[in-house]
Amino acid sequence: MSEKKRIKIAIVGGGIAGLALAVGLTRKPHLDVHVYEAVPAYKDVGAGLALHLNALKAMTLISPDLRQAYFDKALTMGDEDQEMVTEVILAHGRFQGQRVAELGRAKGRKTVARADLLDAWLALIPADRISFGKRLASIEETVSGDKHRVVHLAFQDGTSATADCLLGADGIHSVTRNYLLGPDHPAAPSKNHDGWQIYRTMVPTEEARRQINPKWTTNVPILLGPRGHVNCIPLNKNTRLSAGVAVRGAVFSAVDGKAPPLDPALYADYSEEAREIVRMVAKDTSASWTAADHDHAPFYARGRVAMFGDAAHAALPFAGNGAAQALEDASCLDALLKHVDSDSDDQIASALAAYDRVRRPRSQAVVDLARKFGRVYAYAEGDMHEDPARMMAFFGEMAAFTNDFDVKGQNEEAVDVFMFDAVSRGEKLN
Ligand code: FAD
Repeated sequence: MSEKKRIKIAIVGGGIAGLALAVGLTRKPHLDVHVYEAVPAYKDVGAGLALHLNALKAMTLISPDLRQAYFDKALTMGDEDQEMVTEVILAHGRFQGQRVAELGRAKGRKTVARADLLDAWLALIPADRISFGKRLASIEETVSGDKHRVVHLAFQDGTSATADCLLGADGIHSVTRNYLLGPDHPAAPSKNHDGWQIYRTMVPTEEARRQINPKWTTNVPILLGPRGHVNCIPLNKNTRLSAGVAVRGAVFSAVDGKAPPLDPALYADYSEEAREIVRMVAKDTSASWTAADHDHAPFYARGRVAMFGDAAHAALPFAGNGAAQALEDASCLDALLKHVDSDSDDQIASALAAYDRVRRPRSQAVVDLARKFGRVYAYAEGDMHEDPARMMAFFGEMAAFTNDFDVKGQNEEAVDVFMFDAVSRGEKLN
């Protein structure tokens, strides 16, 4: 294909989803790809991401370089050869102290700081294919004289750009989502249906060891109960501990929208080890935040515009699979766009429709699953907390659903859908 006919793709948002896709697409000579990222530079906000097996598969399918960069930048939570496990334990009620799940037992379990990962992926993209400080403000589509549809992007700094195809990975408060669904659509804004407030603190590990059971500075506890679940995550090779209490049903102030202070007295009937962690968190809750997610969008794509990653399906953090879903999306779009060889409406729209058809059900199931995790953690999923064996079965099944997924098979299915459409139109594709 001549330089003139390269398909012009704009990716809005250079986060996990946008950059991963850009690594794949900038290596396809028939595509002319540009990423527009709102922030001037990536900033470390202290959070660590753990990428599960489905994320690793998705990265590898886009490019083994993505996966390698993750391993180069990830730090072990503890020592390299230290075995670590996430233990889910009932901290309240009749079965207090009972373990209901043991997840991810492995040596050298890793997390990566988002900013470190993005910097490493940025190095895999030609510098002239990304612009920082470009916050998308609005989108418009026009039809030119030769009936060719064009997507126009207007940025907050007054500049603009055009593309044959816009892929929006602009996060939970997505402009692309608002454009696709319409700002008044009930699923357009994110919502905090269950009133989740995450009280969180960061403590040097040495100091934490003096305040809580030292076991929870080298393993990951999730201690469950009806007024909040308690969690610790070792970071940076056991030098820092992130500790939190996630409360469902917080009552936010009508005046300033703030959640009430974390009150350790409310946890008097929790296990002693949970109470210790609550007391430690209550001393400094400056790293707290309010969680939200998306109700199901009826579609992820229309014509030449699609949304992916958190823009399409932001989830509560309790299933730990949001970034993995963003990477599954990117991997699917990468597989499809490899086969799009014309900037016609038919081809671009049908590739994006195939992405929507294959990815929407699974990614929305993960949004629902994360909500369900939240309810199970808060003893609000019926009487499941009265039946530890049922809880154990739930965690086992759910881990398999997210992590053991056949990402390659899903991408092949999407390409089949796209090819079938093309054949129906009488086109011959590569
Ligand atoms: P983001 O990473 O949010 O990136 C969106 C990008 O778009 C940003 O760079 C932003 O600056 C840019 N942008 C926004 N608006 C505009 C605009 N108008 N114009 C241009 N650019 C714009 N997931 C996991 O798989 N494992 C975990 O362990 C995990 N832990 C988590 C812990 C916490 C505390 C939280 C909150 C989430 C966690 N997640 C985890 C979820 C994960 O972080 C997200 O699902 C993931 O970052 C989504 O990637 P994204 O690229 O879609 O969105």
